[in-house]
Amino acid sequence: MNTIYLKAYAKINLALDVLRRRPDGYHEVRMIMQSVRLHDRLRITRTRTPGIRLKTNLDFLPTNENNLVYAAANLFFEQFPQDYGVNIQLDKRIPVSAGMAGGSTDAAAALFGLNRLFQTGLSLSELQKLGVKLGADVPYCLLRGTALSEGIGEILTPLAPAPSCHVLLVKPPVSISTKHVYEHLSLDESTVHPDIDGMIDAIRRKSLPDTAALLSNVLESVTRREYPAIADIEDTMREFGALNALMSGSGPTVFGLFSDRGRAEKAFYHFKTGPCGRQTFMTAFFQPAVSDIRHK
Ligand code: ATP
Repeated sequence: MNTIYLKAYAKINLALDVLRRRPDGYHEVRMIMQSVRLHDRLRITRTRTPGIRLKTNLDFLPTNENNLVYAAANLFFEQFPQDYGVNIQLDKRIPVSAGMAGGSTDAAAALFGLNRLFQTGLSLSELQKLGVKLGADVPYCLLRGTALSEGIGEILTPLAPAPSCHVLLVKPPVSISTKHVYEHLSLDESTVHPDIDGMIDAIRRKSLPDTAALLSNVLESVTRREYPAIADIEDTMREFGALNALMSGSGPTVFGLFSDRGRAEKAFYHFKTGPCGRQTFMTAFFQPAVSDIRHK
């Protein structure tokens, strides 16, 4: 095998809690992660010429070590030196800087693919140990599906698959710095924390209405105040019949969960023909199959 094709799925946070700020500056989180079908594509080809050559369809993205795909390949070759090199084509569809772990999922797919291509035989947990060096969300992006994420994001517990539904994603045209959001998050007695355990129970009971009712993201206390577009999109999604809507990660992407396909489609066309049109997607939860084959 000289070429491997991979899909790198985006994630949303069905719930996101921040427990405390650690002395080293990291935040301890508790999150329910969910993969969605929206994905980037990677094609990795082994070449006789050593080195890493990355191309992408987005001209504003770096193609050097500042791209997480390049960084993942670099890390892999540092650990497992090879006589060969790689050409990597990254086809991005996940909105960038959107709160959907686009870069982390690309890095995870790259590590997964290189492990296959060079037959290095790393287990999932060994790949995750390597991946966390690239970013706290990379271990989850290797796991995928529905999962509880704790610590700084690296302690993962797979959960029963969340009940399936139609997922509408809308990214408003604002850019939010993750650093800014965390710096302005105040954690005190008045902080409303998501009911993570309640959501785990709702997911286990396969109740979509109860899961949707518990959508909550503590970071919205910062972003809803500063970016009214976020609350507006959520309200509009609910008016169109979403069971509920929430901002993913540190934003600004908002997702709405719909049980009714017709209502989801009406909402999709509403946003698709508006100012957020280019960054509006209709998708669904992605659950990896046990024997998931990630290459053609
Ligand atoms: P998160 O949900 O983990 O906060 P995000 O969706 O907000 O992630 P990304 O799209 O992963 O943000 O990355 C945003 C930044 O990372 C951009 O500044 C971008 O230039 C850089 N970056 C590096 N590699 C990639 C990549 N492969 N895809 C997207 N962005 C990348």
